[in-house]
Amino acid sequence: MNKIKEYLKDRAFLRYLLYSFYIIITVSILFILLSSTSVRSFLGTMENKTFDARQSVLAPYKTVSKDIAIVAVDDESYEYFLDKYGEWPISRNIYADMVKFLEKQKSSAIAFDLMFVKSLKSSTGADNKLANTIAAYDNVFTSINFDNLSFDLRKPPVLPDYLSANIDNESKIMLKNQFTEYTNCRSIISQIMNTTSNIGQINLVRDEDGIARDLHPFVVYKDRYYPHLALKVVLKYLEQKEGLKIKDFKIDKNGFLMLGKRTVPLNEKASVILNWYGPSGINSTSTFEYIPMWKVEKTMYEGVKLIPDDYFKGKIVYIGTSATSLFDLKNVPTDKIFPGVEIHTTFINNVLDNNFIKRVSPLADILISLLLSLFVGLFVIRNESTVISSIFAVLTAVVYILAATAVMLFFNIWVGIILQLASILLVFIACYLAKYIIKSRDLEYTYALATTDGLTELYNHRYFQEQMLQNIETGKRYDKPFSLIMIDIDFFKKFNDTYGHQSGDAVLRQVAQILKKNVRSSDIVCRYGGEEMAIILTNTNNEDAIVTAEKICRAVSEHPLKLVNGNDVQVTISLGVSTYPEHGTTAQEMIKYADDCLYIAKENGRNQVGRKQ
Ligand code: GH3
Ligand code: MG
Ligand code: MG
Repeated sequence: MNKIKEYLKDRAFLRYLLYSFYIIITVSILFILLSSTSVRSFLGTMENKTFDARQSVLAPYKTVSKDIAIVAVDDESYEYFLDKYGEWPISRNIYADMVKFLEKQKSSAIAFDLMFVKSLKSSTGADNKLANTIAAYDNVFTSINFDNLSFDLRKPPVLPDYLSANIDNESKIMLKNQFTEYTNCRSIISQIMNTTSNIGQINLVRDEDGIARDLHPFVVYKDRYYPHLALKVVLKYLEQKEGLKIKDFKIDKNGFLMLGKRTVPLNEKASVILNWYGPSGINSTSTFEYIPMWKVEKTMYEGVKLIPDDYFKGKIVYIGTSATSLFDLKNVPTDKIFPGVEIHTTFINNVLDNNFIKRVSPLADILISLLLSLFVGLFVIRNESTVISSIFAVLTAVVYILAATAVMLFFNIWVGIILQLASILLVFIACYLAKYIIKSRDLEYTYALATTDGLTELYNHRYFQEQMLQNIETGKRYDKPFSLIMIDIDFFKKFNDTYGHQSGDAVLRQVAQILKKNVRSSDIVCRYGGEEMAIILTNTNNEDAIVTAEKICRAVSEHPLKLVNGNDVQVTISLGVSTYPEHGTTAQEMIKYADDCLYIAKENGRNQVGRKQ
């Protein structure tokens, strides 16, 4: 049995079994951690940050459509209007005039990311004018916003039927969920509400860290679906450019919202993940084209040509605010401050380019993690050098991050990074620990091999000599005695001759076991050589050592031993005892004294402990 164990101990496959065991334990720990909601939420937030980082790096490599222009009340426009009209908000007459101006330039669609709500400052005349102007064209859009404010504060309005949409949903996605359902609505002036169906919702759901990464094409209010303003606007553009006409929406089995040849992938939250452009920012010109509203106003009213005549021709014109004092800050992945209007135009541009981000399934993320763990784990196990293993693990992580970034750029696919990095790190640590444990076990085994006698499994001669020296050292330092018993089997030559060497070996082993059983565990039982054995009794004086020696002598003589043929046989031993320091202060002296006593025992008839007079 012992032999088999030793044989297996050395086998490589056992090592791999052990490593696999550690890897499985590590992965299990990871999964147990993942079952905790707070850990998942933390990892989710971290993963979102990797999305932001990837998007920021990739944004400059994506180009925006030249058919989208943003007219923004930026900081300078705000100053300009305050200065010119002495108030904010400006009269709705100006917006009405701007619609006419843009229509004259033949804009494809005009969208107000502004809510025309009832206000103390607004005049009915201007409100009517704006409403009539919007109603006069079929390509002018404005916003509405849903919320969950209490019914005490505001009564949920009944919206005209024509604002909601029918959706044929063949997918498993729940369009009505905690992110899409609203119980109340902020009403806009009835003049607009009752004259146009070009009103879209501008609801925004931010992630836990306050950053907006996705957009819900539809929200639910009083059991009806309301399309997003940007969705309505892009459909108008596609109708004009490509003749696409969509009356009712359709979501296919795989969760794609079908917009002609374009498809918008919805995720399980019924939202789409936006693919950001930019380096962008409020004053940047590298993303969507930004035109300060004051330039439009001045061109329109004062005939100063700050904008070319056909500048807005065929374009989607989005009108919104970006002055820091006017809009609530919306954080998006690629920039710290972003006007909300770019969230809309990004959606529109993603639709036009069929360019939304698709997140891979959690299962795919787990599979990738397992593969990476295996890859790194096997390398660490096979490689001897700590430095090379560490470099390999870091390199794998870096290459994976680059690959994940490339996959986002070329395929618009968001594969996880955080779970994968966590797995690599954990498996790296686990394999290191496993390697360390196995190494120390190997060392122990080699040490045992070097100090043990193969036949009797007692300590060998070398170990005996080592221990003698050590005991003399300690004896000297602490002034403590220790004893040595030398043992020789009686008439063993004859025994071998009578029963054969194999039975001789068997008896040697059995005598060894009897010796071990009759001493303390701190005592060191060794095979001195041939059929001679020696026991070092730590912390034992001569008197006690002789008592032990006699006990051993009796035990051997009374114990029947087995021959290889199964028959019982009896052997006896002779013993000699010496004690430090009275019988010697070196190993040699002590061995000599015990040997002398042993010789006396033989002389006196064997089966006894010999004593010098
Ligand atoms: P005595 O009572 O005087 O000790 O007689 P003895 O025959 O035992 O004499 P001695 O100690 O000199 O003999 C040693 C013998 O022990 C020689 C050898 O046949 C036997 N022997 C030594 N080592 C081994 C071993 O590993 N296996 C076996 N089977 N016999 C051994
Ligand atoms: Mg002998
Ligand atoms: Mg002998």
